Amino acid sequence: MKPDSFEAPDYYNLDDLLSDEHKLVRDAARQWVKREVSPIIEDYAQKAEFPHQILNGLAEIGAFGPYIPEEYGGAGLDQISYGLIMQEIERGDSGVRSTASVQSSLVMYPIYTYGSEEQKKKFLPKLASGELMGCFGLTEPNHGSNPGGMETKFKDGGDHYLLNGAKLWISNSPFADIAVVWAKNEEGRIHGLIIERDMEGFSTPETHNKWSLRASATGELIFDNVKVPKENLLPNKSGLGAPLGCLDSARYGISWGAIGAAMDCYDTALRYAKERVQFGKPIAAFQLQQKKLAEMITEITKAQLLSFRLGQLKNEGKATSAQISMAKRNNVDMALKIAREARQMLGGMGITGEYSIMRHMMNLESVVTYEGTHDIHLLITGADITGIPAFN
Ligand SMILES: Cc1cc2nc3c(=O)[nH]c(=O)nc-3n(C[C@H](O)[C@H](O)[C@H](O)COP(=O)(O)OP(=O)(O)OC[C@H]3O[C@@H](n4cnc5c(N)ncnc54)[C@H](O)[C@@H]3O)c2cc1C
Repeated sequence: MKPDSFEAPDYYNLDDLLSDEHKLVRDAARQWVKREVSPIIEDYAQKAEFPHQILNGLAEIGAFGPYIPEEYGGAGLDQISYGLIMQEIERGDSGVRSTASVQSSLVMYPIYTYGSEEQKKKFLPKLASGELMGCFGLTEPNHGSNPGGMETKFKDGGDHYLLNGAKLWISNSPFADIAVVWAKNEEGRIHGLIIERDMEGFSTPETHNKWSLRASATGELIFDNVKVPKENLLPNKSGLGAPLGCLDSARYGISWGAIGAAMDCYDTALRYAKERVQFGKPIAAFQLQQKKLAEMITEITKAQLLSFRLGQLKNEGKATSAQISMAKRNNVDMALKIAREARQMLGGMGITGEYSIMRHMMNLESVVTYEGTHDIHLLITGADITGIPAFN
């Protein structure tokens, strides 16, 4: 792969709106990605392996629990810093960002927000340092876009709960030490349970043959009469709103992450267009190529403003789920379109692993589907503005 000479586009001087802390956090993540992710990621994606050696570095740049308070081992940062870290990591690879998103927003967030004090003290510091890795089990073979229909269930077994069922498409599951799993009790109410790797009857087979997120490990969670200690139930929230709250936090991070992937594709295409000569001129001199580049930077700039404002609203505790849906949907779609255009601008070279674009493009096919599909987020906006849900 080419050396990483990425330069971030900032057409509307967004940096002027960032604090010194934001820029420090962002630049540290950017340098780390250049040093530790860019040189190895293409190789790991080609091999379809997760690069475990980067876990310590992810912890060091604050990617595990950026907004979790320092007393629980988190970085104690605001929502914009969280977004900027996700942007930089996904600039490297969406699979690596997925690992960080799951750990922070889908494992640490529910333990911090819905967990007991004992659960927080036991798990959060180790999750923040990467000593423990987690995964999040919501999706099932028969229930993706409608998780409320889930069939995984638990019943009271006296001094423990007995858990049965299966989850599919679970990021990090093949190597996770713990799983935050959503299951129904005997009354059909959804609760979160912390499942630990060594519990009997719990297995995590890996999903192979993915063309997307190849440097991220994805798998199943199988529960065959797993005895779960009662103290592993998250006590402070139940119902579908509990997992959806986690998704809000992850989707917000994805809205920033997608900007990172788009920036990388744009920067690569711009650089290539200025260097590649055809018909005696750099291809950047042709109007058709300029149109592509001009539209890319326009869309990236709009996405940056959307996520920045959403970050302000999140910092004030005012961001709604529907606002988050809009940003996730818009920014991932924007990144996917930019990846496709940028790929074409590199001609034949665009399909090789010499450049990051094709990998971003394939990764984004997962990002546009997970954490709520493109269509489902549109329906969320539709329901929000009309007051009429059109899901069924
Ligand atoms: C690589 C990867 C990693 C993932 N990681 C995780 C994870 O860590 N944890 C986890 O719990 N899940 C995870 N997921 C699962 C992901 O969230 C689901 O794939 C997603 O929610 C869609 O569910 P589905 O695949 O079952 O598709 P379906 O729900 O079957 O949807 C199929 C199509 O139908 C459309 N559709 C569905 N309902 C409607 C409707 N009412 N109106 C119009 N169109 C509709 C959808 O938009 C989609 O286009 C991951 C998925 C992938 C691919």
